[in-house]
Amino acid sequence: MTIRVGVFSAKSYDESIFAPMSEHYDVSFRFLPMALDAQTAHLCSDYDAVCVFVNDDISRPIIDALHQCGVRHIALRCAGFNNIDLQAAKDHGIAVSRVPAYGPEAVAEHAIALMLTLNRKIHKAYNRVKEGNFELSGLMGFTLHNKTAGIIGTGRIGAATARILSGFGCKVMCYDPYPDDELIQAGIGYVPLDTLLETSHIISLHCPLSEDTYHLINHDTIAQMRDGVMLINTSRGGLIDTSAVIQGLKSRKIGYLGLDVYEMESELFFKDHSEQIIDDDVFERLATFHNVIITGHQGFFTQEALSQIATTTLENLRDFNKGKPDPSRFLSG
Ligand code: NAD
Repeated sequence: MTIRVGVFSAKSYDESIFAPMSEHYDVSFRFLPMALDAQTAHLCSDYDAVCVFVNDDISRPIIDALHQCGVRHIALRCAGFNNIDLQAAKDHGIAVSRVPAYGPEAVAEHAIALMLTLNRKIHKAYNRVKEGNFELSGLMGFTLHNKTAGIIGTGRIGAATARILSGFGCKVMCYDPYPDDELIQAGIGYVPLDTLLETSHIISLHCPLSEDTYHLINHDTIAQMRDGVMLINTSRGGLIDTSAVIQGLKSRKIGYLGLDVYEMESELFFKDHSEQIIDDDVFERLATFHNVIITGHQGFFTQEALSQIATTTLENLRDFNKGKPDPSRFLSG
């Protein structure tokens, strides 16, 4: 039986990758540009499953509405699952699947891109040279070799970032409640969080957003950091208290900030606001700093990663339909 799937927050690139693969899995997709939210959740009675992304609203009221529509499976086409009320899904017997791994190097490489761009001021150099300005003043960076890089969270992406930084000749130190034996064997050590915060020239966040990690970076943890630290977040916006980081930038404590995620990103990211007035004053303040680079949640956005996301999502839809969900990819059901 063909599985009918409503794909929310669908972009043309999603359609171009998912659509050609669907017939091999007996899945019929309807690509919907709008987000799943209170307005759209009750329109799902034509679907057996919904396929959602990082900023779709999958809170309890939305899951209640999906249940009333007869939806039996919520397929996340991402790794993080901080935006879903898993208990609500369990209460209604709705299965929840995700894509735990789809090329962690894609996100790790983006974290490195933010580090290198911030450090060597490639964005400024690009504009200067375009305008015929070859002046170097203001473009001085620092040599990564021998600098200390702290990785918070050494799952798939954090470990990939640690390996790349190790290749640059950085002294890499990690913090994770569950250390990775392979990293230890590769000579990459673990330290308490306090030591990492106090010692690192660069701190890169790779742990999931949870009640424990919400605002992990706050006034107190920023105070522990080295003066002029570089802070990189490609994980989830809620790991950082944005107001505290703005204070840290103003006091010069934070010397560089690279973000691919932002705690209020659902209002902004993945949409073109270039002809609108942006109401988010916190975001606008962040964007004014010369030593801040923000990208709009594009760490995952490589051809290889997107293909893997589509393959795993289709496998999840097929496996659930056949009654054989892979426990490593199903959070409920
Ligand atoms: P993962 O599950 O493989 O690894 C997460 C690691 O964080 C685990 O080793 C875990 O033990 C550790 N951790 C948990 N709590 C911690 C804490 N309090 N302090 C330190 N470490 C802690 O996940 P992953 O695939 O490496 O992804 C990491 C995060 O990256 C995801 O949760 C997701 O939010 C984010 N992500 C972002 C993008 C993007 O496009 N920017 C893409 C994919 C994933």
